[in-house]
Amino acid sequence: MRIATKDLGEGVYPFYFEATPEELELPQDETRFSHPVVVDGSLSAAGGKWVVQACVATRATYECSRCLTIFEEEIVGDMAVLYEKSAGAPPDEADALAVSGDIVLLPLDAGEIDISDRVEEAIVLAIPMKPLCREDCRGLCPKCGIDLNQDRCNCTAEEVDTRWVALRKLIKEE
Ligand SMILES: [Zn+2]
Ligand SMILES: [Zn+2]
Repeated sequence: MRIATKDLGEGVYPFYFEATPEELELPQDETRFSHPVVVDGSLSAAGGKWVVQACVATRATYECSRCLTIFEEEIVGDMAVLYEKSAGAPPDEADALAVSGDIVLLPLDAGEIDISDRVEEAIVLAIPMKPLCREDCRGLCPKCGIDLNQDRCNCTAEEVDTRWVALRKLIKEE
């Protein structure tokens, strides 16, 4: 995902990229990507600096961390990075130097910007830590393993909520 900056005058340039998770070297041990990564953004060139803003999106299949159902969901992230040339950057263009999360230094003779690393980072940050098939997933019964989204079991009734204990006490005392 390279953008040529060599003969680029000042202005705003929209861009669009598509790449497979393999091409972006996204970690695939825990996340199973089911769609290519789409990058939709713009590059603003001004004063010898470039600001890249983009929305990155793909889809992946997960196993719900509560009920173990397999489901597919969109991954959406965004990135905003300032690229500037600096004598302090490594001479090899491939080793652009990240000063902070938002600023990347390029070698003085750089003729292009490679945003692949930043796209990969934006996707990784947007991957949910604890995927849920839905916000209010009830999960599996810890005793009998039944899927509480679809069924009910008797075990749950046995698990006495402390609030009920207090209530029953009150009822008995009356
Ligand atoms: Zn679930
Ligand atoms: Zn149960």
